[in-house]
Amino acid sequence: MTLRQTQHIITGTDASDGAGVKMKRLFPVQGIVQVDPFLLFDEFGSDDPDAYIGGFPDHPHRGFETVTYMLAGRMRHFDSRGNSGLLTAGGAQWMTAGRGLIHSEMPEQTDGLMRGFQIWINLPASEKMVPPRYQDYSPDEIAEATLENGIALKVVAGRAGGITGPVNGVSRQPLLVDATIPAGVTWRQAVEQDATVLAHVFEGTAEIGGKKLGTTQMAVLGPGDEIAATAGKDGARVLLLAAQPLGEPVARYGPFVMNTQAEIEQAFADYRAGRLG
Ligand code: MN
Repeated sequence: MTLRQTQHIITGTDASDGAGVKMKRLFPVQGIVQVDPFLLFDEFGSDDPDAYIGGFPDHPHRGFETVTYMLAGRMRHFDSRGNSGLLTAGGAQWMTAGRGLIHSEMPEQTDGLMRGFQIWINLPASEKMVPPRYQDYSPDEIAEATLENGIALKVVAGRAGGITGPVNGVSRQPLLVDATIPAGVTWRQAVEQDATVLAHVFEGTAEIGGKKLGTTQMAVLGPGDEIAATAGKDGARVLLLAAQPLGEPVARYGPFVMNTQAEIEQAFADYRAGRLG
C-alpha cells in the first residue's frame, strides 16, 4: 500500500447561496474552479434561522450530480416532474440531474440547527444527458460500523470498514464516508489508485497525509492507494470523498455544467423553453 500525501489544503470561506443560505464554501473559489470530478463542496451549518430559512427555491441543474448529506435538521425537495422527498438528519440524497430538472430544496423547520453538506460531482460527456434519477436514503439506510479502535463510520457510497454504502449505479465509482475518529487514533482506509481523493475535517483537528488540518479544512491528496488520518486531542470527524476524474473540458455557467459553450447555450434555451420539466 502507498499512503497518499496531502498536496494542498483548502480552507472553507464564508459564502451565501440560494435565497441567502449562509455556508462555508471550500470550492469553487478564486483559484480553485474544480477538483476533477468534484465541482463544488459546501458545508452549511447554523442554528440561526435567518441563515438558512430562505432555502434554495426553484432552480435548474443539468450535466452533473448533486449530493446532499444532512447532519442536522430537515430539508424538503420538490422537482418539476412531481418528485418529492424529505431529507432528515443522517440521511442523504444522491441526485443525478443528467439532462435536467428544476427543483427546490427548502428547510422544513423554522428554528433549531440545520447542518450538512452539498457536493457536486461532474458527469462524463456520455452521461450528461441521461434521464434524471434520485436516490434518497433515510438515516437507517446509511451503512454504519464501529471499528475495533473506536472509529465510527457511516458509509453513504462505496466500501469502507467492511461495509458498503447504499448508493448504487452512479458514474464515478464514488466513496463517501463520514468517519468519527477518537483522539490520537489513526484511521487507515484503502482508496482507488486512480481516484481523486479529498478529506474534509468538519469537527476537531486531524493530521491527514502528513499535514495538520483544523476544522473546516480539506486535504487534497496526492497519488497512492491508502489514506491515513490521525485525530487530534479533541478527536475529529472527517468526510472522505473519492471519485474517478473525467479529464474532459468543462464549460460551466451557474447550475449547468457541460463540455462546450454551445451546450451551455442549449441548456439555457431548453430551460427558457420549459424543456427541463
Ligand atoms: Mn439544487
